Amino acid sequence: MTHKGSCHCGRIAFEVEGDIGQVIECNCSICSRRGYLLWFVPRDRLRLATPESDLATYTFNTARIRHHFCPSCGCAPFGFGSGQSGVAGAAVNVRCLEGVEPSSLKIVPFDGRSR
Ligand SMILES: [Zn+2]
Repeated sequence: MTHKGSCHCGRIAFEVEGDIGQVIECNCSICSRRGYLLWFVPRDRLRLATPESDLATYTFNTARIRHHFCPSCGCAPFGFGSGQSGVAGAAVNVRCLEGVEPSSLKIVPFDGRSR
């Protein structure tokens, strides 16, 4: 199915195709601060409905992952990057998807802090 997502003010809006199987709750420095609940999908399953130039971007460490957020309201709906295989992926924060109830999802803890 198609999931619609956005930041709080709507400057960033997007759609993601697929079924949310499980989401990752990671305890690394950025995931814990942002409260991410992440659903990983191939990059081409996410389609932006608003201009890419409206995305603010934060990177750190190896800068392999581009953590995008809204410069107006500050919400962080997704990040883009490529895995070990080099395939482009998107990490979608399911908290920014419409009609998705986090407590109904299978939440898998990931110990990113120790990596
Ligand atoms: Zn916003």
